[in-house]
Amino acid sequence: MSKKTNPLRSGVNYENKAIEMQQLALFEDLPISFQSVARNGADGASSSIKAHNEVALGYAAWLADLEVPVLPVWGVDTKAGCSCKYRELKESKALGTPFEPCASPGKHPKRGGWQQYTSTDQIEIRKWFLNHKGRQNIAIATGGQANIIIVDLDGVEGADSYEKLLHEHGDMPETLEIETGSGGSHIILRAPKGVKVPNSASKIAPKIDIRGEGGLAVTAGSLHPRGNYYVFKHGRGPGEVGIAEAPDWLLELIAEGEPSSDPSSATCSADKVQRKPAGQLAAGSWSSLLESQLGDGPDGCGFDNVIYTAMCRYFTKFGANAEADTFVNTAMPLILDADCENERNKTRYATDGYLSEQLEKARAFVRSRHAYVPKRALPLMAELRLKEEPEEMAALLGEHFCMVKIGKHMVMAKKPAGGK
Ligand SMILES: [Zn+2]
Repeated sequence: MSKKTNPLRSGVNYENKAIEMQQLALFEDLPISFQSVARNGADGASSSIKAHNEVALGYAAWLADLEVPVLPVWGVDTKAGCSCKYRELKESKALGTPFEPCASPGKHPKRGGWQQYTSTDQIEIRKWFLNHKGRQNIAIATGGQANIIIVDLDGVEGADSYEKLLHEHGDMPETLEIETGSGGSHIILRAPKGVKVPNSASKIAPKIDIRGEGGLAVTAGSLHPRGNYYVFKHGRGPGEVGIAEAPDWLLELIAEGEPSSDPSSATCSADKVQRKPAGQLAAGSWSSLLESQLGDGPDGCGFDNVIYTAMCRYFTKFGANAEADTFVNTAMPLILDADCENERNKTRYATDGYLSEQLEKARAFVRSRHAYVPKRALPLMAELRLKEEPEEMAALLGEHFCMVKIGKHMVMAKKPAGGK
């Protein structure tokens, strides 16, 4: 055990020497050759199962080397459509029973509960591919510890949408990018630790999907049912670029959830509900804000800003460490009842994922406001409210007030600044 450890061998019991040698040889071989095999062998129908699985393994190993968690997904089968149906096709032919093809060929995980089986471990990944009978594709697992997010541009429309986004919001750093088998693009980014990015479809812009927490995306080294391989874009592969942090504008856009051109958000002007700093929020209650302004109707102000502002009020009132249950229990039914043009109140806003993400943002915002306001800068009454013990209140008052005898009465009087 304590002998020199070969990282490729640690913790692995090979059943036979041949497999071990094959694995070591593949590791030496990883670089560009896989890319060219995939590009040149783009006619999937003609690639042998063995060649395909070696290509897929090469890409999977490459991604894992960049600490991108991957998982095996069913591959494309030339006869059955999807390798998940390989046996079923044989049986139905033998028995003369009808055959129902797979609805998502080459794109779905091989195991239920796949989130537990993602890996960045080179040996584990090799085990998935070597000596496997059918073609296997690979997918990137998004979210989780590694917090990879993928901006998925669907075809020409997605690319146009993306150009507009860049024009409106700013640059995208150079990062790993994949050309998909259907002619789209996957831009691979890392989200900051602790930021849970929700999945969405055409939410930030038409034909642009976001793969975030708990999501997956079939990726480079996989064969699409149309016969094209997913490959790294020229100049955007491993060794050429790294994986960049998602830019702030993108994270903000995802959090807002509404494209800036969405008429429903445009009609609710910023002067109706603003993201005011917590300290400046109007005194109205958080729940009455939700009751009166949620929704798309003529009196509504949409969802994002109303919900966020109400959350800030909530934490300002109850403290940044308050439990969020009361907020969620009150807000859920109101969100579900609100006027909504496209049911996004149900699909997006009244979800635990959305609410908990926004609650943490509001909580952090309120906390940061309290953290950097110097105590002396607070009005005395506000500072007094922060005191929990009567002694602390008395001490604070003592700094500012004294009891003075006027006539027969003792009266509290404010001390002159710096005076006695
Ligand atoms: Zn299938």
